[in-house]
Amino acid sequence: MAVQSPIPNAPERVLSTMNVDGSRRWPRPRPSHGAWWQRRRIVGWLLMAIFLVLPWVRMNGRPALLLDLPKREFLLFGARFLATDTVLFMLLMISTLIGIFLITALLGRVWCGWGCPQTVYMEFLFRPLEYLIEGGPRGVEELDKHGRFAPRRLLKYAVFVALACVLAHTFLSYFVGTDQLAIWMRRSPIEHPTSFLIMLGTTLAVFIDFAWFREQTCLVACPYGRLQSVLLDRRSLIVGYDAVRGEPRMKGNNRALPVIAGDCIDCRMCVQTCPTGIDIRDGLQMECLHCTQCMDACDKVMAKIHRPEGLIRYGSRDMLERRPGSWLRPRIIVYPLVLLVTGGLFLGVLLSRRDLDVTLLRGKGTPYVLQDDGTLLHQVRIKLVNRADHPREVKLALAGADDSRLVVPMNPYPLKPDEMATLSVFVVTPRHGFHLGRRAIAFELSDGKGWHERAEWELLGPGSTPGEHEED
Ligand code: SF4
Ligand code: SF4
Repeated sequence: MAVQSPIPNAPERVLSTMNVDGSRRWPRPRPSHGAWWQRRRIVGWLLMAIFLVLPWVRMNGRPALLLDLPKREFLLFGARFLATDTVLFMLLMISTLIGIFLITALLGRVWCGWGCPQTVYMEFLFRPLEYLIEGGPRGVEELDKHGRFAPRRLLKYAVFVALACVLAHTFLSYFVGTDQLAIWMRRSPIEHPTSFLIMLGTTLAVFIDFAWFREQTCLVACPYGRLQSVLLDRRSLIVGYDAVRGEPRMKGNNRALPVIAGDCIDCRMCVQTCPTGIDIRDGLQMECLHCTQCMDACDKVMAKIHRPEGLIRYGSRDMLERRPGSWLRPRIIVYPLVLLVTGGLFLGVLLSRRDLDVTLLRGKGTPYVLQDDGTLLHQVRIKLVNRADHPREVKLALAGADDSRLVVPMNPYPLKPDEMATLSVFVVTPRHGFHLGRRAIAFELSDGKGWHERAEWELLGPGSTPGEHEED
């Protein structure tokens, strides 16, 4: 006896990746190897090659791209960013965001269809391998029904695990560098359990994503697709169906009826090739990745029935609906202007960075310590960043404070190229000389080779904290 589902079937149309009873419907798209697919394949393979090779590229002996999170240090094609470069990060983030807004307003979801790793790896690596091993879309559907543990399916999973492992290792090398990765790979996981667990987790995540979660990443997890309603407008480039030309759609024999039929023969090839299972003829949808597969599928059909290609094509909604209008609109003027300002500021700050950074920080704990001889001891932390590619010896001195003394553990302090160091220094001052609990001093720093900097600082003394009174 068939078991009745406690959930009633949906009376209306449901999502393209869902059955009427709420269970998941797996799209098994039929490949459409047309001109757009060829172009996307070239771009996709190029991007995959860049992803694999980039961690190995060196510039001035250092990785061209390294996001060293534990050290809070980022290398970006010769430029070195540290956690102290907050302004640069902020400007870079704003510029990137505005750049995304601009590209989306002009070219729609071109990123989703052509550049996103989810689409690129799914459509040009994992899915082709799946079809090769399991016998194309029909073979996959057959195994879905009858052979979930068939040798071919298990072989596919084994290949996916190996690929996920390579991708996870490559991904991790962007954060730890290839040298460190090679060391970890040669050693036992017991010697580096944390990194091993991170690697295992990443491999598992990649495997689950491409073996199971798939198009759901774009439909459920990715925020970019959900922003389309605000980022796109009627003049943005989309992959769209030309309803003016295609409707009324008619199948084979019906086309002989004495009505003027549109060019769409309702063959549903565009639906069958869609990786998210939607029907583009329903209009612009959040699920559409603008992957162009339906363009290729429909062009083939048009060629067969001797109609012009491009029933589904790139165009704006206004163009497809034959509405006149210019591509120039307020957001296309405002975004580049903002981008010019933020990008210009970013470049300005980047180019004006000194090759030896000095940042003064207050010592941890109480602002000063009263010593037995009546003097005050103040801890100051001096953060030095040597961005130059040669070593430096940084000498520290107090400026204009004859009654005070500087205690430094090592003076001059040696700094290697690219080294970042935080020195704890102490300033010994007499108790007098503080006004309202504060006293201005300055540090003189020099490297004996022409570099010199004066860093102003304010010491806190008696009376600087609420409720504290200076004693006579
Ligand atoms: S592939 Fe083209 S002709 Fe066939 S259903 Fe889709 S739009 Fe119509
Ligand atoms: S509707 Fe066309 S462009 Fe959009 S995701 Fe489906 S196949 Fe790709």
